[in-house]
Amino acid sequence: MVINTKDELKRFIKNAHEEQKTIGFVPTMGFLHKGHLSLVKKAKEENQLVVVSIFVNPTQFGPTEDFETYPRDIQTDTRLAMEAGADVIFNPSTEEMYVPGSSTWVEVEGDITSVLCGASRPTHFRGVTTVVNMLFNIVEPDKAYFGQKDAQQAAVLTKMVQDLHMNVEIVVCPIVREADGVALSSRNIYLNKEEREQAAVLNRSLQLVQEAYWKGEKSVEVLTELIVKNINQMPLAEIDYVNIYAYPSLKTIAKVEEKAIAAVAVKFGKTRLIDNIILEKRK
Ligand code: AMP
Repeated sequence: MVINTKDELKRFIKNAHEEQKTIGFVPTMGFLHKGHLSLVKKAKEENQLVVVSIFVNPTQFGPTEDFETYPRDIQTDTRLAMEAGADVIFNPSTEEMYVPGSSTWVEVEGDITSVLCGASRPTHFRGVTTVVNMLFNIVEPDKAYFGQKDAQQAAVLTKMVQDLHMNVEIVVCPIVREADGVALSSRNIYLNKEEREQAAVLNRSLQLVQEAYWKGEKSVEVLTELIVKNINQMPLAEIDYVNIYAYPSLKTIAKVEEKAIAAVAVKFGKTRLIDNIILEKRK
């Protein structure tokens, strides 16, 4: 079932609460792929009712970014999400979410939002935290599912829920990848053949850094340089950032001695791809 208005969804949620059903929620911007669907499946396993939102949120795009051209296909998305176990697809218009005159923002401050994508996209996380708040208020989920693919987003939202004592559990699910290691992303369709081939360098370089770390290299400078060198071997790759921080705090570190993240953002032509790996001791 597709619902387009918050009033209708709220009525539906009220009924679900009356029937004591647990609600799992998967927020997305649509153009669904196996990464999104892994979240829907996990939500289905853990809840009696699954709501998937499909909303290309304008406030998380910068003025020169791809909001207008972001891929959209609500028919296919609806079919895929239902097949994966969604009970309701929430697909509101921009006006339904941002009522005229709305001027309230939810913003997580500090290192966690000022580095990585927060540095490259200064208003991005404010847009994410605000829209996720709106969605949580409408859906009132018990659990909400996010991908490790957007590791900083997962960290920011987990912090927001803690800081604001929100009654929802954030569940972070593993990155789903193509056979050559490229993380699935709605934006991968922008890549031409050569760019797509070269994009595999992201995961390859992250795997290399993990190996180096497991072999005993702890210096953030050395590990970072290893990734940079590797990515720069691809002629079409233009690095936006390569960084290693403590995770999930995203505090600066000189050595990897606690749980850390190696995160990269690289442009291939006009397409900006992100990827990351959590550096932890070998199990
Ligand atoms: P998006 O539609 O890009 O906003 O993504 C919606 C949700 O799907 C976010 O929580 C993403 O982290 C997650 N997601 C996107 N790509 C992947 C992937 N390759 N593997 C796992 N989760 C993903």
